[in-house]
Amino acid sequence: MVPTPIGNLDDMTPRAIEVLRQVDWIAAEDTRHSARLLQHFSIPTRTLSLHEHNEDKRTAMLCERLKGGESVALISDAGTPLISDPGFVLVRRCREEGINISALPGPCAGITALSASGLPTDRFIFEGFLPVKSLARDNLLTQLKERECTSVFYEAPRRILDTINDIQRILGDRHIVIAKEISKAFETYVSGTPQVVIDYLESDAAHQKGEFVVMVSPAELNASEIPPEAMALLNALCEHLPLKKAAAVVAKHYDLKKNALYQAGLDAQR
Ligand code: SAM
Repeated sequence: MVPTPIGNLDDMTPRAIEVLRQVDWIAAEDTRHSARLLQHFSIPTRTLSLHEHNEDKRTAMLCERLKGGESVALISDAGTPLISDPGFVLVRRCREEGINISALPGPCAGITALSASGLPTDRFIFEGFLPVKSLARDNLLTQLKERECTSVFYEAPRRILDTINDIQRILGDRHIVIAKEISKAFETYVSGTPQVVIDYLESDAAHQKGEFVVMVSPAELNASEIPPEAMALLNALCEHLPLKKAAAVVAKHYDLKKNALYQAGLDAQR
């Protein structure tokens, strides 16, 4: 598995170039698209296509070649193969048949965007592309109401505005971040409420062009989900401490969200 750049050719690693030069075959999502990359790095290796419409047939053929002692590198149009790209059928079959597989580390839009987003990175869910049909999209976004980790999506330029509007309709003022054109000349991160992102996208037609990663922050814990013993401690501490301080102490003690406890404390005082 050989990752390739997502916008900047300098992100191609020396090891990726070396492997692509050494293997017998390169299986590429789109051989014509990859020809430019291979030409740029003077990689003369023979290519064949492996995409979603021929993956089953190609997998059988490639497994035979691999068992016969030939070596194959898999690349996609950009980034890490199999991450919203073809290759899963091939890798699964190779594992089933005991064929050795190795993956090189390298560019991946979702991970790159997440690392610069400022959103929690300790737990996250990568969702790939949102479903196109509106009912399925709404159902998926509704799941995010309760999700307590960051969600990462890929989105096409023609749907980016609709997607952010859907997020606003279903999740309200939830903090989101979009990463546009990572590693390219006009790389941009926009962070804030969905309205902040909508204003950015609508302020210039060029802002809706390019490639996007959309990230949604985790849901804050609801007051109803705070364990009763944490609530009891909060109430007791509030007799001696300001609410903000008490919420911080309880949050640390029970590994809960400070803001959720603060809000619950306010509700209780009311
Ligand atoms: N395999 C790739 C990877 O490792 O990231 C992803 C392939 S997927 C078909 C393409 C999507 O990835 C784009 O529609 C966009 O959402 C995201 N993407 C790829 N390159 C990007 C970039 N330079 N900036 C932002 N998003 C990018």
